[in-house]
Order: sequence, then structure tokens, then C-alpha cells
Amino acid sequence: MADKRTPSFETIAVQSGHSPDPTTLSRGVPIYRTSSFTFKSAAHAARLFGLKEFGNIYTRLGNPTNEILEIRVSQLEGGAASVSVASGTAAIFNTVITIAKAGDEIVSASNLYGGTYTMFDAILPDLGITTRFANVLDPASFEAAINDKTRLIFIESIGNPVLDLADIGAISAVARKHHLPLVVDATFTTPYLLKTIELGANIVVNSLTKWLGGHGTAIGGIATDAGNFDWSDPKFVLFNRPDPNYHGLRWAIDLSPELRKIAFALRFRTVPLRNLGACLTPDNTWIFLQGIESLHVRMPRHAENALAVAKFLKNHSKVSWIRYPGLEGDPSYGLAKKLLPKGAGGMVVFGVKGGRAAGEKFIESLKLFSHLANVGDAKSLALHPASTSHSQPPEEQQVASGLPPDLVRLSIGIDNIEYSISDLELVLAAV
Ligand SMILES: *Cc1c(COP(=O)(O)O)cnc(C)c1O
Repeated sequence: MADKRTPSFETIAVQSGHSPDPTTLSRGVPIYRTSSFTFKSAAHAARLFGLKEFGNIYTRLGNPTNEILEIRVSQLEGGAASVSVASGTAAIFNTVITIAKAGDEIVSASNLYGGTYTMFDAILPDLGITTRFANVLDPASFEAAINDKTRLIFIESIGNPVLDLADIGAISAVARKHHLPLVVDATFTTPYLLKTIELGANIVVNSLTKWLGGHGTAIGGIATDAGNFDWSDPKFVLFNRPDPNYHGLRWAIDLSPELRKIAFALRFRTVPLRNLGACLTPDNTWIFLQGIESLHVRMPRHAENALAVAKFLKNHSKVSWIRYPGLEGDPSYGLAKKLLPKGAGGMVVFGVKGGRAAGEKFIESLKLFSHLANVGDAKSLALHPASTSHSQPPEEQQVASGLPPDLVRLSIGIDNIEYSISDLELVLAAV
């Protein structure tokens, strides 16, 4: 019999990081809506700034409401420390620049969220960080792209938007062999569906905006340090030279062994978050905490509803192709059965016969699905990525990175699935 005192996922999601406040006895998590915190003395202030003691200084660096979220997500992911930021995008950018600097390279899967692709393909190069893209379905292509300038490997657990599931174990073996951290954007799987760190991730990034928040009401992101990467290899210059951004500290050398394990999270917080400033407002944090409390109730419903939609579309005469990792016959189905026993997520993508024009008409005609650029809402959503979220690269490049021009992206909500399917049915009949 399981030890009932070992907190389960559900208990962590609802309780972790917070107990009733001893002063006010408030059971709900308070929003600490303050920019700054008083110091007890000059010596206390000096200890906080010198990392000799952890405590609150200024909300750009950390806030007690945010800390509850950070503890909760760390425990849900099975990681050691998390840092919350203003968006998933900021979590990814700050992760990269915590580890890599001008002259360095990163190796990334090419099947990425549109904004991440643009960041890696067009913005980081202007800052001197070059991205080499690899094929997520071919771990050897990551190995082929690695050289002595590579500082990290980046993948999405389920790629956006074509929904190929990454073989995280195989790609993490390549990362380990070359002593590189594996960064996984696990937004599409959440800690509920996938044990990303157990499979070999060193850093997990989540857009809180999506299923963790779960209601399409706030933007936020979080990076979780698994605490399992050794930064002392001299190639990680930012962790081994005296850091001019932080009292000349050498993150991989000067910290206590305990803190060295979370050197990534500490440098992320004290260098880019502190000095570039993409902090998360505690008001949004409170919204995310409400969402996380029901993550384990919502995710099975998202996945169950998505599978029902996938099965419906698979047999429809107006549908030219369909992808859902949990659908028998899908190219990712075998891996999904192994890695995603609790469900393959809430996203379904497909092509409408008649190509791009039919796809656009289809989306415009839906009634219960909202036409918008988000995913992971309790409501069902629809989008045509080639003309919207992924329209940055030219069409040849979109196709090369695996985005078909006729692709319709559905984020399946938790409302009544028979109604949602009847909406799809009516609209498909009309296109
Ligand atoms: C939405 C999303 C992001 C970006 O997150 P924001 O919170 O919108 O900045 C990154 N990766 C994936 C997979 C996403 O779906």
C-alpha cells in the first residue's frame, strides 16, 4: 500500500508551498502586491544581496506569491528550483542567455512554437548566438549538429504545431554524451502528463499561459532547474569565470555543493531576471495557482476530448490527414503509449480537403470553437498557423520545418465533447 503521507501529484497541486498564513489565518494564497520588502538591518540587507541568506528584496527578483508557484511547479516537475517570469517566451529567452553568450551555439529541434523559432532563427543570431536546427524524429541529427561551441540542446515535448512527440530519452542520451544540458519546453504535456525530468531533461520550461493556467486569462512562464547538471566544465564560461554581473562569483565553483546543484536557477534569477526585468506580476501568479489546483482534473478531460475529436476527424471524408499522438496509427502513437500513459494532450491538427482556403473557411464558420491564437484554454480553440502564429518564416521554410499550409490547429477544451464534435460536423459538411 502506498504511503499516504508521501504527497501525491494531486496533493502537491492543491497544497504545496503554502499553509495558512499565521498572522491573518488566510487559507487562500495571498497576493503580495508590493514592489519591495523592508530589511531588518543593514547586515540583513547585505546578507540577502550576497546570497548568504535567501529572502525578499524587490518583486523583480522574487515575490512570496511567486515563490509559492515556484515551489509548486518544482515539486510537480520533480525538479530542484524554479524561476517564474512574465511569459513562456521570456522563460525560453532567459534560459538560453543564462547558459550561452555571443560566439556560442545551440542545437534545437526545428518543430517549434512560432515565436521560439523566430527567436532562435532571427533574433539570437543578431546577439551572436547561432542555432543549428535538428530533426526531432532523428536523435542522430542532434549529434551531427553539435560542435565545441554548442552550449545546450532544446526541444519541445510535443512539437508545435505538427504534434510529433520527442523521444526525450534518446535525445537526452546525446546530450549526456556531449555533456550538454537538455532544455525541454513541456508546455504541451504539462507535468501531469509527462515526467520530463525523469526522462532526462535538465531544464524544463513551461508557458503558464496554457494548460497550467488553463483558462486563457493570463500570460506567464516558468523555468525549472532539475538540479541534475554539473556546470563545472570550463566550456560553460558563464558559470566558471568570475561573473561581472554578480560580485565576481563563479557559479559552478564558489557556491556550496547544495547551491551549485541549482546554479542555473540562481544565475537565471540573479543575472537576466534581475537585470533584464521580465518578472511575473503576482496577480497573474495567483491566477496560475488557481489553475494548477485543478490541473490533474482538467488534463485527463482535455486528452479524452481530444482523442474523441481525433477519432471523429479520422473517419471524415472532408479530412485529408490528421495528427494526434494518442490516435492509433499516428506516427507518434507507439512513443505516446510509452511516455504518455495518462493521455496525449489536448491538441489535434488536421488538413481540410480543399487546402488552405477550405481550412480558413472552416475556422471562420465554427461556432463553439473560438478563432484565436492561444492553446490550453478550458474552451475549445481553432487557428490556421501558416497564416498567423507561424507566418514569420516564408512558406518554403514553413514547409521545410514541417508545417503544411492546410494545417488547422485545434486546442480541445473541457466542455461537452458531443456538442463540440457536432460543431465540427456541421461546418465540415458545409466546406
Ligand atoms: C505559448 C507557447 C510558448 C510561449 O509562451 P507565452 O506564455 O505565450 O510567451 C512557448 N512554447 C510553447 C510550446 C507554447 O505553446
